[in-house]
Amino acid sequence: MSIKLHKGDIPADLDFGKILAIDTETMGLNNHRDPLCLVQLSSGDGNAHIVQLDRKTYDAPNLKALLADEKVLKIFHYARFDVAVIKKYLKLDCGPVYCTRTASRLARTYTDRHGLKQCCRELLGIELNKQQQSSDWGAAELKDVQLEYAASDVYHLHALKEKLDIMLEREGRAELAQKCFEFLPVRAELDLTGWPDEDIFAHV
Ligand code: MN
Repeated sequence: MSIKLHKGDIPADLDFGKILAIDTETMGLNNHRDPLCLVQLSSGDGNAHIVQLDRKTYDAPNLKALLADEKVLKIFHYARFDVAVIKKYLKLDCGPVYCTRTASRLARTYTDRHGLKQCCRELLGIELNKQQQSSDWGAAELKDVQLEYAASDVYHLHALKEKLDIMLEREGRAELAQKCFEFLPVRAELDLTGWPDEDIFAHV
């Protein structure tokens, strides 16, 4: 497994194939307050590319083209958050989307533990170290432990998708999952436009 850090943008000739694992790190979980700092990418080959964004300009044309490329499926864990921050800070609609957390919620109804850590443990037998989850992602020089943590969030998403697709198929929910993935950008937009906590479909 190798990690490559890119300052500002990815090189134009980097090819991630048709299915991209992606995650972001921000200064916090409030998407209006906390800016996007990193975007982590992996083609599922065991290598990770980490883009450390210029938070003054967010000038990253190659990354933006990749994220907006409709021919590349993006796998996230909890896409709702990442799609919203990408829309807000990179000013683009990232898609099409697959969310392993949403897939897990639809397939693994026997548990309420849908964190990446729990999914990796149960479905892949892999233990993730979440110690750097809350760390200063805005630092100019990121520590090796931070880079390793950030990368570990994208290493296993392809494998998780494979396992979850089998479960969704088995439970007859693959189509419903697909419809949810297609709705996720709308859910993210509601988060950004003033309905973060409300279920607008609820009667009260
Ligand atoms: Mn992460």
